[in-house]
Amino acid sequence: MYLTMRQKIVAGNWKMHKNREETKVLISELKALENTSGSRVIIAPSYVSLAFAVKEINNEAAIDVAAQNMDQHSSGAYTGEVSASMLKSVGVKTVILGHSERRIYFGETDTLLKQKVNSAVEQGMEIIFCIGENLKQRESGTYFHVISSQISNVLFHLEAKDVKNIILAYEPVWAIGTGKTATPGQVQEMHAFIREMISWQYNEMVANSVTILYGGSCKPANAVELFSNKDVDGGLIGGASLNAEDFYAIVNANR
Ligand code: PEP
Repeated sequence: MYLTMRQKIVAGNWKMHKNREETKVLISELKALENTSGSRVIIAPSYVSLAFAVKEINNEAAIDVAAQNMDQHSSGAYTGEVSASMLKSVGVKTVILGHSERRIYFGETDTLLKQKVNSAVEQGMEIIFCIGENLKQRESGTYFHVISSQISNVLFHLEAKDVKNIILAYEPVWAIGTGKTATPGQVQEMHAFIREMISWQYNEMVANSVTILYGGSCKPANAVELFSNKDVDGGLIGGASLNAEDFYAIVNANR
């Protein structure tokens, strides 16, 4: 039954921060904190720390480990890349795809992201799929169109049963790492639009089962207000996820 699957989640995207020693310290700080909200917690360290992070958590805390990216191929001569099966082999079952930094700095297009999504789905991986408009698109009023094409181009060929493994993260590019947060009204408006799109494409039950996170300068001071919107199921957190106290204050704001 799809209805049972909408989850409360707070995920931390560590980006290119924290070496092995720093990863160890942050994980031990996270393990010492109490999750009183019941939200699922996910952390996404760098590739080189993934296996180590899984080992450090060692089922002693309810923290899942995700990768920040993966290659679309299953294996082969793709120097520097990492496949879904390699991630799974070190205990990582979730991957972030479509982050705006991947789109902007590494030229990831909808076509490529569709291939990555297909590969992750084939491997049974859970996906945190990021979408978001830039400032120009927000100001020119084309943001619904932008989000609509990012989602439909990459996800709408999937069967409903596969959409259940996709967590969406609405991350307006103008709010990422800028200290500028979208207003709760802007966030709720977009999340409701996304749910409505899924309902048109699939059905209401699927739409109500999909978890939709907000990301963009989310911090302890604004998390409660952002998460209290009815279509917001939690957050994808960048900067504030690098500090254990701040990250768990955000986790505990997601009730
Ligand atoms: C992100 O990069 O996914 C993000 C939300 O970053 P920040 O929280 O730092 O804006």
